[in-house]
Amino acid sequence: MAANPPGTKPTSFEPCGWINPVSQQECTERGDHFCVPRADHVCGFFERMLVHTKGTQYMKRFTLREWQSQEILRPLFGRVVWSPEHKTYVRRYRIAYIEMARKNGKSQILAGIMLYLLFADGEHSAEIISVAKDREQAGAVFEVASQMVLLNPILSKGAKVIPSTKRIVKTRSNSVYKVKAADGGRLLGGNPSGVAADEILAWPTPSGAEVWNALRSGMGSMDRKQPLMVAATTAPAADESFGADLHRRMVRVVEDPDSEPHVFAWIKNLPLDADIYDEDNWHIPNPALGDFLSLEEMRRMSMEARNDPVAELSFRRFQLNQTLGSEVHWMPMHLWDECEGTVFQNATATLDAFAGRECWMGIDLAARQDLTSICYLFPDGDEIDLVWRHWMPREGFDRLNKAHGGKFSRWVEDGWLQVTEGDVLDFTAASPVYEAIDADAQRYTILGIDADRWSSDPVLQEIGFRTYVTDVMAYTNDFTHMSDGMHRLFELVLEKNVRHHGNPVARWCFDCCEARLHTSDPDLVMPSKIKRDQSSNRIDAVPSSIMAVNAWWTRGHEVDSVYNNSDLLIIG
Ligand SMILES: [Zn+2]
Repeated sequence: MAANPPGTKPTSFEPCGWINPVSQQECTERGDHFCVPRADHVCGFFERMLVHTKGTQYMKRFTLREWQSQEILRPLFGRVVWSPEHKTYVRRYRIAYIEMARKNGKSQILAGIMLYLLFADGEHSAEIISVAKDREQAGAVFEVASQMVLLNPILSKGAKVIPSTKRIVKTRSNSVYKVKAADGGRLLGGNPSGVAADEILAWPTPSGAEVWNALRSGMGSMDRKQPLMVAATTAPAADESFGADLHRRMVRVVEDPDSEPHVFAWIKNLPLDADIYDEDNWHIPNPALGDFLSLEEMRRMSMEARNDPVAELSFRRFQLNQTLGSEVHWMPMHLWDECEGTVFQNATATLDAFAGRECWMGIDLAARQDLTSICYLFPDGDEIDLVWRHWMPREGFDRLNKAHGGKFSRWVEDGWLQVTEGDVLDFTAASPVYEAIDADAQRYTILGIDADRWSSDPVLQEIGFRTYVTDVMAYTNDFTHMSDGMHRLFELVLEKNVRHHGNPVARWCFDCCEARLHTSDPDLVMPSKIKRDQSSNRIDAVPSSIMAVNAWWTRGHEVDSVYNNSDLLIIG
């Protein structure tokens, strides 16, 4: 066969010649090929040098599962192509995207790959970076990698782990593994040879895209023959975030691998139309199920999902790795309706029925077009009674009443809703809200108040003054403050420990309310904000109820314990 003319490439007939430094096995393949010695080498590194760093597998040798080696590591490291620039064979893939459900060992695989790139990839001055939504999250993969180094005598002899600055330094080859955040700040310089991009679903938009692009261009220099960026994540929500964009791009790569030949995408979603309660289906997005992922735990979560739309969405997104929106109708109204309790003649009779009782108060004060909602929570052991008052300015009322076929007029007649004149709610001294609160402060003992922080301070002070409550807890209606109360209220409904006495305004609000699930934390939820200009729905009885539950739960239990202690003293 004639030799290639000088300067023309590729010479796809040149043999690979790569030698596995451990087994001395040499590759004799030519052209783009699957390089067995390289694939063996990476798997050998995992199994000989790495151990598991937590749980029941702690300190045990990292025995690769079939799916880890055959579906991820071997193709990712074994597929090589001829590089005309470097005049040698290099790895085909520059970007790897691994998407599966939570708790299938993503951090361990990521950490292992980064350590291979640091210790065994033959890269001088290697620069390895763990990046995630913030420094703390980025530390997660780094922690696993650090433990893996410290638990292996050979690796720990060759490198120094510096926890304070989150670095692993390999002085002999001038190499370093460090941590970066994707939440803005200084953009990255440098010239990384390996990047672990963790939990893409939580990366901020747009700074996540900027960081991703900066890392990619940093890897593009001629100094690096075969840099590798590995993203691992649970499926991002179906929205316009950076993570969602990347997911869509990677789905296209799965469908047509030639569209981006340098990208390796491994995605394990349960199809949206599959039965989510069929245990056989759970294995699709959870390759570790029944191995190091507990089947019992999955069964428990699936049970919760059956009765709770938020738990179902969370189960679908985080355990079954489905790409779905973040919002879901919160309260199954048949459950709500089962918690009716005694229905009194009208609003006044309902308020009167609890005269003389102790209660907690939640307040959601209105913006211009909203309902103002006050919720009183009357504790009764583990059970609660909820009673509301609602107000609305005339202008907003007329519009809503028309949109809802006049049903609000009937609620006004029965006193469930009070309409005030003008286009904003009146909070002058003669406000009907204050008048009502005065009356309630006379008939109930109000133990404490939680309120939306956006409420104006003077109004809250005035309400505190009129109800003899010294400290009004005011906070923003966000995931941090609403999640616990929302879960607790749902449980109370599920266990039929709530009585709402048929308040029609509250029912309407609960029926209108969508729950918003956090992008990356399966436990965090909050009521979704209504887009007021576009919607004739209102949810204000929901936040007022959640805040009343918060007040009761966070402070009521302290009060109980004080009483319990007093009882003990008296008995003693
Ligand atoms: Zn080869």
